[in-house]
Amino acid sequence: MTMSKLVFAPLSYTGWGSLDQLIPEVEKTGAKKILVVTDPQLVELGLSTKVTAPLEEKGFDVTIYHDVVPEPPLEVGEKLVSFTKEGGFELVIGIGGGSALDLAKLTAVMAGQEGSVADYLNLSGGKEIMNKGLPKILIPTTAGTGSEVTNIAVLSLASTKDVVTHDHLLADVAIIDPELTLSVPPKVTAATGIDALTHAIEAYVSKNASPVSDGLSLQAIRLISGSIRTAVRDGADRQARIDMSYGSYIAGLAFFNAGVAGVHALAYPLGGQFHISHGESNAVLLPYVMGYIRKSCEGRMAAILEAVKGKSTDLSDEEASKQCVEELVGIVRDVGIPQRLSEFGISESSLDALTRDGVKQKRLLARSPMTLGEEDIRVIYRAAYVGEVVEG
Ligand code: NAD
Repeated sequence: MTMSKLVFAPLSYTGWGSLDQLIPEVEKTGAKKILVVTDPQLVELGLSTKVTAPLEEKGFDVTIYHDVVPEPPLEVGEKLVSFTKEGGFELVIGIGGGSALDLAKLTAVMAGQEGSVADYLNLSGGKEIMNKGLPKILIPTTAGTGSEVTNIAVLSLASTKDVVTHDHLLADVAIIDPELTLSVPPKVTAATGIDALTHAIEAYVSKNASPVSDGLSLQAIRLISGSIRTAVRDGADRQARIDMSYGSYIAGLAFFNAGVAGVHALAYPLGGQFHISHGESNAVLLPYVMGYIRKSCEGRMAAILEAVKGKSTDLSDEEASKQCVEELVGIVRDVGIPQRLSEFGISESSLDALTRDGVKQKRLLARSPMTLGEEDIRVIYRAAYVGEVVEG
């Protein structure tokens, strides 16, 4: 029997109104000087105030850092880390989408390390994280990345993305309050929601999947596929927001343990080279990667179909896995995400450069149920470019 290593963030609060747990948790840390990492849009919307106002009322010394941009480049991370090291903070709170949360956990940990962030990158850095750094509380405002429960911080580089990863990056406390997602606009709801669905699907077909991650993945697929269309159409639908928040959180627990694979490996260069958001990069590739690898995981894709439909089917695994790919095409289409690379302004001549960077994501590709070499990756990008699923 294969052994699985399972790691979970130590403490999470979930559900409507769970942000009320923030002050008691901050008080438990004994910290007085707090850094809140967020992005400018969340300051403008008043969402970050939901964190800073009660802290200030209680007399904490609060500094807001909102120099966060979506899909943050390495330099933005380096700048924040210098700011944190100089600031003498005792606790970091991240509130926002994956971009703010990744930077919050990165800076909390890097505050305790020597050297720069670049030294600790997975693909090109040589140093290992030795110390835990500062305590951190992560509060997502999108239902997407699962960053609040993973040990990864993603950074954009010139033509692709790389990660800093270590269990010290896990949040000490995660607070998943769906109320904070009510203001997410439809386009971001769609992209982040498909990101979460991709986490669950890739974790379920991953070579590292275990019975534990399987249960989490299937539940996440059920919740997200059952609510994403409603959440995009009617952002005020409370139940859809609750289901999406739980779905993305559970998908985070699943993929952190089982890993993601081909969709993410090919999505990183789309983000790096064309600045397409992480969610949209995953969404445009999801049906094409799953269609290509279908034959390597027919039984698993049949189970995904049942989770998506919310009922069992009496189809053969072959038929069900084909229908599963069609369902994925339908979800991406219905939430309004472009279905071809060409619709993002990507030209055919870019496919070679994308392929070259996609191949480099060996950590991710190693978990794919079908081995994906350079030629496979080229074929998948081409399929996504013309908008036709091709089987491997
Ligand atoms: P994001 O954090 O970049 O946010 C996207 C936009 O949505 C921003 O403009 C933001 O201001 C806005 N927004 C966020 N919450 C809002 C709200 N409640 N109301 C209105 N607007 C809101 O998007 P994301 O998809 O959550 O995060 C993407 C980043 O996360 C990427 O860098 C990606 O690589 C990374 N990521 C990390 C992990 C991980 O495990 N650490 C996993 C997947 C993705």
